[in-house]
Amino acid sequence: MVNTLTPNELLHITRGEILQQGPLSSINYISTDSRKIIHGDQTLFVALKGFKVDGHDYIADAYTKGVRIFVVQHEDTDTHIPNSTVIRVKSTTEALQDLATWNRLQYEGIVVGITGSNGKTILKEWLGQILANHFDITKSPKSYNSQTGVPLSVFGIERHHKAAIIEAGISQPDEMAKLQAIIQPNIGIMTNIGTAHAEGFSDQKEKLNEKLRLFKDAQLIIYRKDHEAIHQSLQNLYPADKLVAWSEQPGGDYTLSIKKEKEGSKITLIKSDLGLYTFHSRFTDEASLENLRHTIVASLVLGLSEPQIQQSIQELDTVEMRLTLKSGIHQCLIIDDTYNNDLAGLDIALEFMNSQRPKKRKILILSDLLQAGDKGSVYSHVNALIRHYQLDMLIAVGTDIHRLKSAPPCEVYFYRDTAHFLEDFPGLSFQDDLILVKGARVFQFERIVDALQERIHGTVLEINLNALRKNFTFYKSLLKPTTKTMIMVKAFAYGGGATEIAHHLEQLNANYLAVAYTDEGVSLRNEKITLPVMVLNPVQDSFGNLIKHRLEPVVYSLSFFRQLGEYCRSNNNAISVHLDLDTGMHRLGFGEEDLEELRSLTHRYPELRIASLYTHLAGADDAAHETYSMRQLSLFQSMCSSIQSFLGYRPLMHALNSAGIVRYPEFQMDMVRLGIGLYGVEVNGLHENALQPVSVLKTTISQIKLLKKGETVGYSRKGTMNHDGKIATIAIGYADGYDRRFSNGIGKVIIHGQKAPVIGNICMDMTMIDVTGMDVHEGDEVIIYGAGLSLKEQAAAIGTIPYELLTNISSRVKRVYYLD
Ligand SMILES: *Cc1c(COP(=O)(O)O)cnc(C)c1O
Repeated sequence: MVNTLTPNELLHITRGEILQQGPLSSINYISTDSRKIIHGDQTLFVALKGFKVDGHDYIADAYTKGVRIFVVQHEDTDTHIPNSTVIRVKSTTEALQDLATWNRLQYEGIVVGITGSNGKTILKEWLGQILANHFDITKSPKSYNSQTGVPLSVFGIERHHKAAIIEAGISQPDEMAKLQAIIQPNIGIMTNIGTAHAEGFSDQKEKLNEKLRLFKDAQLIIYRKDHEAIHQSLQNLYPADKLVAWSEQPGGDYTLSIKKEKEGSKITLIKSDLGLYTFHSRFTDEASLENLRHTIVASLVLGLSEPQIQQSIQELDTVEMRLTLKSGIHQCLIIDDTYNNDLAGLDIALEFMNSQRPKKRKILILSDLLQAGDKGSVYSHVNALIRHYQLDMLIAVGTDIHRLKSAPPCEVYFYRDTAHFLEDFPGLSFQDDLILVKGARVFQFERIVDALQERIHGTVLEINLNALRKNFTFYKSLLKPTTKTMIMVKAFAYGGGATEIAHHLEQLNANYLAVAYTDEGVSLRNEKITLPVMVLNPVQDSFGNLIKHRLEPVVYSLSFFRQLGEYCRSNNNAISVHLDLDTGMHRLGFGEEDLEELRSLTHRYPELRIASLYTHLAGADDAAHETYSMRQLSLFQSMCSSIQSFLGYRPLMHALNSAGIVRYPEFQMDMVRLGIGLYGVEVNGLHENALQPVSVLKTTISQIKLLKKGETVGYSRKGTMNHDGKIATIAIGYADGYDRRFSNGIGKVIIHGQKAPVIGNICMDMTMIDVTGMDVHEGDEVIIYGAGLSLKEQAAAIGTIPYELLTNISSRVKRVYYLD
């Protein structure tokens, strides 16, 4: 909610012109996303022009939600939005920023601005959590830290808040000045400076100085003095009395040293007046400990006492900012959001829920909202959200949440606490439902997730749907806007899980899906995926299913054409099919010599409608085969024109896979078939940095053993300790898809950022690794594939290709999806 704004003020702030004068009601909310509008009659809709979506396309939707006042930038915006006020500005992004600046100026509390390369979001969450135990505060939702995210965060600052914590991130020079004007932090925190996002900047120093502009008008700036470059730049830019430095070494305003303990770390704080305090935390990794110390210093600066901080620090947990999606019992799908519970977060989680594929019911399990402020208005907002997202059932846990009692328009159950819900739980019959579990930390809703989650074993494949989207966008950027995309979700979407990935791509407006077998297509249809689906290897006994589920088979031979034609004729069906033309792959497909006969078959069986013609390149990923590829492409074009001439209509034409899109974009034709690239592997090695790894395979340490030099490890005694040392047994084996060829040091895994080799032979369900000299514990996380262990390198080490590693990950490995 923003400070109430009149249309005249709006006109003045945005320096716009009135295109159309409608009613002049005042504004309490500003929205850029029509899906999220709740109080339409009090909402201003700002149509942003984004890279992927254009807000102007959603004006009609906002209108149906009750909005009657709009800010637009299109020259040709249809001004006939009935009975509405429309204001046109040069740039809607700038207008949004100006509105945020205006909202900020009305606020008299403290604004904490956080920037830096890493840790911003965690620091914001932690500081927010500690402060929220004592004051009514607000903070940026998720990682809303961009040129449009920051204004939206600032709109969340209300008069009653005592403090606001806002994070700022930039990717281009000159962006920070704009964010500074919007945030105007009183207190600044600089986390650190890394190499990430260096693209738009000429060098490290330029980037650092740009970031530090956020603190132009801040009274105090908190930073770590051990980061020499930051210390230097701050000293050059700002007077010494503004700087609050902490350091591991004596000499800063606060000295914060670390000692590792048995179960975590001890942080000792020495203040310049020699006051001495200790804090305990279960974190041991460097990044968390740095963030923690920033949090401690910021809390002290904001007036909390050491005992208050000590108490809160224990409760801090790894920030599961990410909304994760897990398979549940009885075919349910669980959205796990058990970290915190405030209104902004609830809204985000419900929206995420809404974008999932439909299940039978939408169920929300919700705890008390730990949000200071007027409880009545908090819960009436919750009510509005429940109505807006059309939930079928609410399970409310807590003592405060009873305030909802009067209203929610769905089935509701109340429980005093989590234990009471879990007692009752076996009696609640969830089946094929979509369940959002959203609770504040103290309610320990992870126990609920635990009860609802389908158990398999400790190994998971995490799939980052945002990375998938970015990879998709990268390939789209190489294509003309009109070129269609067919996404290969064969083989369980290269191991990633076909349904979730297909659903996500449907949301991203992909045009076609392709699977290997009819059964794979049938399961997509059963999961309510509606995109057209091509089936690469249909077999005769699946004809009925193809037709029943509107699946489109590849026809690759004359005899297959005849069989399918006969089947359709006798059942009175018609079907869309795709013809595979063999131009040199020599796998399946029609050769040139088949075209004559194909002509007569197409005439004899008009039941088969040819939706597309395609070919597949045998060596698209290698420059060495360029001449061959060009020959394939030209043969394809000539075969296509013969076929078109006898068909009398023009099917779609497509030839390029992921590697082909990068190498031969001029042959994109009507459509491309995107596979491995989407999953984060650029097989040409030309654009590796443009893609993001989509999946991380991880497991945990089951046991640690100390062994003496000369002792052997595992089957056939293949591993020998060549020193006194330590091994860890991890919960993954070849039956999970961890290839046995990784045995005996060929494979490496990552624990706490460090590589450790496999020792001995890989077993069916377990693997031993040498962790001599490493500080590791039972239960620690182990990364098998993921950042730092590129799939390409791993595959090369055992003489295979990334495709095989991905598709070999066994179906017993739980797939978990998240959005970061
Ligand atoms: C698997 C497959 C693709 C996708 O190949 P990638 O190398 O994964 O991009 C494209 N076309 C056909 C016919 C395929 O079988």
